[in-house]
Amino acid sequence: MRLPLAAVCLVALAAHATDTDRVLRGYTPADSATEVSWEQKFRALPDRDHIRENMRRLSARPHHVGSPYDKDNAEWLLAQLKSYGLDAQIEQFSALFPTPKSRKLELLGDAPYTAKLQEPPIAVDPTSSQTAEQLPTYNAYSRDGDVTAPLVYVNYGRPEDYEVLDRMGISVRGAIVIARYGESWRGIKPKVAAEHGAIGCIIYSDPRDDGFYRGDPYPDGPMRPADGAQRGSVMDMPIYPGDPQTPGVGAVAGVKLIPLDQVKTITKIPVLPISWDDAQPFLKALGGATVPEAWRGGLPFTYHVGPSKAEAHLAVAFNWDRKPLYDVIARIPGAKFPDQWVIRGNHHDAWVNGAEDPLSGTSPELEEARVLGQLLQQGWKPARTIIYCFWDGEEPALLGSTEWAETHADELRKHAVAYFNSDGNGRGYFHASGSHSLENFVNDVAKDITDPETKMTVWKRVRLVDISRATPAERKEIRERADLRIPALGSGSDYTVFIDHLGIASVNLSYGGEDEGGGQYHSVYDDFYYYTHFMDTTFDYERALAQTAGTMVLRMADADTLPFQFGDLADTVHLYVTQLKTLADQRRDEVKERNRQIQEGVYQALYDPKKTLVPPKPEAVPPYLNFAPLDQASDDLTEAAKTFDAAFAAAGGVAPDGLNPDLIRSERLLTSPAGLPNRPWFEHLLYAPGFYTGYGVKTIPGVREAIEQSQWIEADQQIVRVSDALEKEADLLKQAAKLVSGKSSD
Ligand SMILES: [Zn+2]
Repeated sequence: MRLPLAAVCLVALAAHATDTDRVLRGYTPADSATEVSWEQKFRALPDRDHIRENMRRLSARPHHVGSPYDKDNAEWLLAQLKSYGLDAQIEQFSALFPTPKSRKLELLGDAPYTAKLQEPPIAVDPTSSQTAEQLPTYNAYSRDGDVTAPLVYVNYGRPEDYEVLDRMGISVRGAIVIARYGESWRGIKPKVAAEHGAIGCIIYSDPRDDGFYRGDPYPDGPMRPADGAQRGSVMDMPIYPGDPQTPGVGAVAGVKLIPLDQVKTITKIPVLPISWDDAQPFLKALGGATVPEAWRGGLPFTYHVGPSKAEAHLAVAFNWDRKPLYDVIARIPGAKFPDQWVIRGNHHDAWVNGAEDPLSGTSPELEEARVLGQLLQQGWKPARTIIYCFWDGEEPALLGSTEWAETHADELRKHAVAYFNSDGNGRGYFHASGSHSLENFVNDVAKDITDPETKMTVWKRVRLVDISRATPAERKEIRERADLRIPALGSGSDYTVFIDHLGIASVNLSYGGEDEGGGQYHSVYDDFYYYTHFMDTTFDYERALAQTAGTMVLRMADADTLPFQFGDLADTVHLYVTQLKTLADQRRDEVKERNRQIQEGVYQALYDPKKTLVPPKPEAVPPYLNFAPLDQASDDLTEAAKTFDAAFAAAGGVAPDGLNPDLIRSERLLTSPAGLPNRPWFEHLLYAPGFYTGYGVKTIPGVREAIEQSQWIEADQQIVRVSDALEKEADLLKQAAKLVSGKSSD
């Protein structure tokens, strides 16, 4: 399934004609022309068959942390990188990684049932039968536990779901909750359940979310089969990711370990994931009221909230062992700025065979490294040092990337320019999220990548897709704004330590949106057979990912002046500040309105004597917050960014070499060593995964979460902290503008 050669040449020529006309940001015209030609050479070389072969080899056996094939893969990756002529090594760490010793889930009472907890092999799928090497279905970092109690259904198990239960007069105190996967990150479900007094947590995959309700189940289609279950970590990563016993420091030999009973990130209650077929008897046993409409799943019976008359018995025990981690790291020394590092990473470990997660990102990344090796042979020398990383232990808790970055924290703070991450990849539209000082850069590169299906640029395609999905106001902005907005990063992959802990400008990249899948996620069925039948079967988007990430690495590494741009950052900060003010107003209006309805007797009027309705309690009306410092800082940043971007443009888009360290520092200034309230590991003041959303981002999190949690004094304090950081950023840009104009007036 390869394009005829003639077509490839035409595309390449067309791209060439437009590319050479423009000067890349941060490059002199002469250097830009040289760079464009290297980038074109780079993009012509990634080979779909190589990427496919990488995926086949790496997914041939289960390769979770601590398994024989995880180490085997690391050694194979190392050998490949060396064969490309790159200087590579394995850096070894260790981390706590619990695996199941015993798992039991049963329904007691009149219609007893024992859950199978087994994903059966499927005849057409050859690796699904490697049962001896597969990790059983479980949630890593669940505590040990043996509990028996009635069940309560809590929908997705988010804080707002418990508010609904409160209105219905249902408490989960002393109960085992059954929650469905989806909407919130899975680790939030047992955390919130325990906060409400539950003593156990079952998480199941409802067919409405990723099973037969959405499409044909595997192997006829890509959706989750009846016995498919989602493994995954439930560690409280919004506190800190990485090895639970070494927060903030690298888990190298001889490091001091926090005793297990003092680790804060292990769940408070036992947790177990199950398939929908195993979930049915438990859901059917629930009594009580019918669930609200939005809580209904796809199974063919009425869902009730509970509690159940019959009790459930949940018992899990784990081996609490430390396991080795093998990060594979390749380094290409920079010729001009060796102390400035451009870093690229993707994890190599999986829950089982992991063709999509993570190998659809790892396989293109390895191909990028091969192609960089070829460019080196052709005489290319990167200006900056390039570091290619293949992380171990992402799935349990971002272990490999976190321990590596914590070990090298001092050097990284000094030298790291940017981090480019990928993870799973599929077929469809370009997607990037990350630091807003790189928004313009990301847009620029996306304009040079050809979409394999439409042959327009991936930038143009995603812009048109965005227009088709936008509200009228958003459409106007998309059409008028020079750059497409990129979302901020939350958590959920290896960029977390770089952006959130160390303040290194980061971007996460993927393609997707066209493969109607998802039913393989974290199951034994995420394998080569699945990927080559239901995802990017031609490997065209695997190639596109290699072209995209590789171009970003090349362009960042070779620039005379780092192509950071601050107008987009200032614009985004302004947007966040506006959102925060709206949020505070909404919270105030909500509380006022609810208090008034309580007074008016609205809840008594709604009272149906045949149903339970518990009225909410009146709340104190939120005070007005002082947003003045944030408004001022946002304005100052906007002004400074304008001055800098104008000076930079006037200087022809390049500046003295002395500016580069300032540009590297620009993301660090957005962090604070004291970190966020109650979670000091998270140092970035603009971006963090939500304390109650897990993967989902909270922007300006100190302020936003204080408002959401009605911590008004803290909200005012956090406003001042964020404002101070933004003022420092504005000062840096003003100084930088002077340095740039000094050069241009020579
Ligand atoms: Zn992954």
